[in-house]
Amino acid sequence: MIALDQLAEQSPYFLSKALGQFDSDGRAYTLPRYLFLGPKGGGDPIRLGIFATIHGDEPEGALALTRFVTALGNNPEIAKGYALFIYPVCNPTGFEDNTRHARSGKDLNREFWRDSAEPEVRFLESEIWTHAFDGIITLHSDDTSDGLYAFVSGAVLTENLTEPALREAEKFLPRNRNRVIDGFVAQEGILKDCYQGVLKATPGLVRPPFEITLETPQKASLHRQVEAFNAALQTILVEYRYLQAIAQNI
Ligand SMILES: [Zn+2]
Repeated sequence: MIALDQLAEQSPYFLSKALGQFDSDGRAYTLPRYLFLGPKGGGDPIRLGIFATIHGDEPEGALALTRFVTALGNNPEIAKGYALFIYPVCNPTGFEDNTRHARSGKDLNREFWRDSAEPEVRFLESEIWTHAFDGIITLHSDDTSDGLYAFVSGAVLTENLTEPALREAEKFLPRNRNRVIDGFVAQEGILKDCYQGVLKATPGLVRPPFEITLETPQKASLHRQVEAFNAALQTILVEYRYLQAIAQNI
């Protein structure tokens, strides 16, 4: 992620800290990881984990994170009160090979919290467990969908974040309003069920984070997918900070 590394060199708020190391075909790989520390808010920083390209042939999310971080660099107030942990390429071998699966042949997004031997999954599980994120956002692009949609799970308020995020993203791409998407029941582009083994919070938490998986229609223009992701991410930051402020005043 050369573009993100350049941003990290220029911005006092943005740090590059690649994670883990593993070998594939005799070559060493790391998982790129970046930390964006927004200006101080009221209380402890809100920790979000933002993950993209766990399917190697979905580079749209990684590009969108470059766009998103550029926007934050120009206006850090967007991230006020946040510590954003950004993982733009969760499947570096698949990204290099332009394949959904990792070079091991595994779909990494079916391996989480199942004692997987895949090194990418183990490193990411360790991150998710260690940082105890308040929210987890993952970015995907679906070549079978004509519109935007989102999987929600975790904290009850997740839907209150997802609806406005989709609404803002809809300025760039239509929403998928089918009753069934990807085999799951959907309501206004929001799905509450999903596959087993997807990248998500540590199972069994008493206070689970909000968890949103955003999907763009992969056949749409790349520019619009990037803008839709960026709009959705910025909206989630605004809405969650607002909901947290209300919760603290009750
Ligand atoms: Zn995907």
